[in-house]
Order: sequence, then C-alpha cells, then structure tokens
Amino acid sequence: MKQIELQKKSAGYSVATVGNPSSFEGKAFIKELMGTTSMEISFGSLESGQAVPFFHSHKQNEEVYIVLSGKDTFILDGEEVAVEAGSIVRIAPSVSRCNKNTGMEPFVYVCIQAKDNSLEQSVAEDAEIQQ
Ligand code: ZN
Repeated sequence: MKQIELQKKSAGYSVATVGNPSSFEGKAFIKELMGTTSMEISFGSLESGQAVPFFHSHKQNEEVYIVLSGKDTFILDGEEVAVEAGSIVRIAPSVSRCNKNTGMEPFVYVCIQAKDNSLEQSVAEDAEIQQ
C-alpha cells in the first residue's frame, strides 16, 4: 500500500491509514491528504544506525515526537536525549534538533507540528458534550 492511504474524505472529516504503524517505512505528511488546518503530522522511520541528515529548527511551530517503536537519540541544542517506544518529546521552535536510530530495530515515530502558543483552549474547555 501507499505510505498513507486516504480511505474517506468529506467536508467535515477525513480517514486514512498507514497500516501497522510499527512497520511504517519512509516519511509521509498528512496535511495535504487529510486537509488539516491547525497542524501538520508526519509518520517517519529510520533504519538501525540511520540519522536524519541535517539539523533543523522551526520559525513558528513546536513539534511533538511520539515514538511508536525502536530506540533513538535526539540531539537538542547539543544535548543528547535517549528515547524509546512510548517516549514523547516536545521541542520548542528555536531548538536545534537532529536524531539518530541507536537501536537494532527500525525507529518509527509520529511528529506533530503546530504553531507555538496557538492553543487557546483544550479538553473540557473546548469540548461540547452532546447527548
Ligand atoms: Zn521539524
């Protein structure tokens, strides 16, 4: 299958799949496919020993990485941080970042980008419970 397969899209919602997320390979973004307007989400993977080939920061978006499988080391403003399946890493826009798969298995993650300080309400403040 494709990296991300759109299953249904209407004016109000969209549904897609990456299949078994722990066996995802490559890099794929959902914004264009699914029509998100407040965030970008990507699935990514690195093979054992593979590193992202550049350091980067962002102009306005913070990022949250959610580790689905494997082990990895992030370098965040020069500081090494080891992570593994289940880890969640939040990174402010200006922080220089790179990461390398330090385990023997593929490293698979989800990365969520959203504008720093843009969230005005969440959970109970934003939800409207309907009967
Ligand atoms: Zn980034």
